[in-house]
Amino acid sequence: MFKVLAQDRQSKARRGRLTTVHGLVDTPAFIPVGTQGSVKATSPRELRELDAQIILGNTYHLFVRPGIEVIQYFGGLHKFMNWNRPILTDSGGYQIFSLAKLRKITEKGVHFQNHVDGKPAFISPEIAMEIQSALGSDIAMVLDECAPYPCERDYAGRSAEMTARWAARCKRAVEANASPARTVSPTNPSAAADTTANRLLFGIVQGATFEDLRRSSAQAIVDLDFDGYAIGGVSVGEPEEEMMCAVESAEPCLPKHKPRYAMGLGTPPQLLEMIARGIDMFDCVLPTRLARNGTAFTASGTINLKNAEFALDKSPIEENCVCPTCREFARGYVRHLIKAEEILGLRLITLHNLHFYLDLMNRARTEIERGTFDQFRREFVMGYKVRDVDLAASVGKAVSLPPNKPGR
Ligand SMILES: [Zn+2]
Repeated sequence: MFKVLAQDRQSKARRGRLTTVHGLVDTPAFIPVGTQGSVKATSPRELRELDAQIILGNTYHLFVRPGIEVIQYFGGLHKFMNWNRPILTDSGGYQIFSLAKLRKITEKGVHFQNHVDGKPAFISPEIAMEIQSALGSDIAMVLDECAPYPCERDYAGRSAEMTARWAARCKRAVEANASPARTVSPTNPSAAADTTANRLLFGIVQGATFEDLRRSSAQAIVDLDFDGYAIGGVSVGEPEEEMMCAVESAEPCLPKHKPRYAMGLGTPPQLLEMIARGIDMFDCVLPTRLARNGTAFTASGTINLKNAEFALDKSPIEENCVCPTCREFARGYVRHLIKAEEILGLRLITLHNLHFYLDLMNRARTEIERGTFDQFRREFVMGYKVRDVDLAASVGKAVSLPPNKPGR
């Protein structure tokens, strides 16, 4: 299911390959976020052309709209959105805690009112498994409680313990549904994609910013034996050192032969630092979210194409970039589209940004294979200037952009 193909000597970085029903995922991997059944502003065909091997579907958003029964009617999320490669779905927990109104958490599950029409709903660990099964995801996530930042130690401890009990219930629910009758039939292997038995289930480590809680949470989740392990509750507003520390505390408890996934991360340097700490998979809204305010990623940091300095710039967003945008268009043209609020502008930056993230992972894999990852990481991080505005956007805070320079 998961194979480590190469291990870096200077760091914990690994090059691996994950096998799912809908195909392979080479790791380290970046997972573009398809919040509402679409990776914002791109089509599945474009994602395939960008060589995205896997995307993320947000269970909460799809549950609220259009509703799981609609997606089931279309034969699952793959068919609904016409994406035939792997899909990872989250459990919906994070969005319930960050978006829904009037939520009430009990041992049984979470009662909430959705943020669209206020309809009351309930999600339990068992229901979260049913929903992800109906979506047809290749990698399902357990329902967890993502503790906020900052968070009292007492709360973080009790929350992580409940997350472990919920994880056990998720695993039991999946096993109960994976009856022999629903597993792969040798005469009809194509039925495999539709059975729960072939779905991978990842556990989630919590524990907020407390090292011992991160360790005990990791241990409890690993004892339940999942197909992979995620580190949740990171990049929720904590300083970067605390985020690194949370990962460093949990990582030694995670088995080496299973994939590790840091949820909701991060800036390009953060991804490389996390890879060096033994993480294999990432998802993040930054490339698509920042694109929509005119921000593009480059090897030396982000640039905001709204700025007047790019008005007469005939160079591509990044020299030598082979993305569809840089092959065809100049910064000055993309800037014009963004200023004129033309939809094409944000689409072009989105394509470049997704290419940047996917290509960074591709480069990391090659460098690990060559045994030169650590040097690559150091040089990249040194040459990349992180702007506060990007960090703020990464945790979904309100971003106050500098006022536009007066036009010419
Ligand atoms: Zn480009």
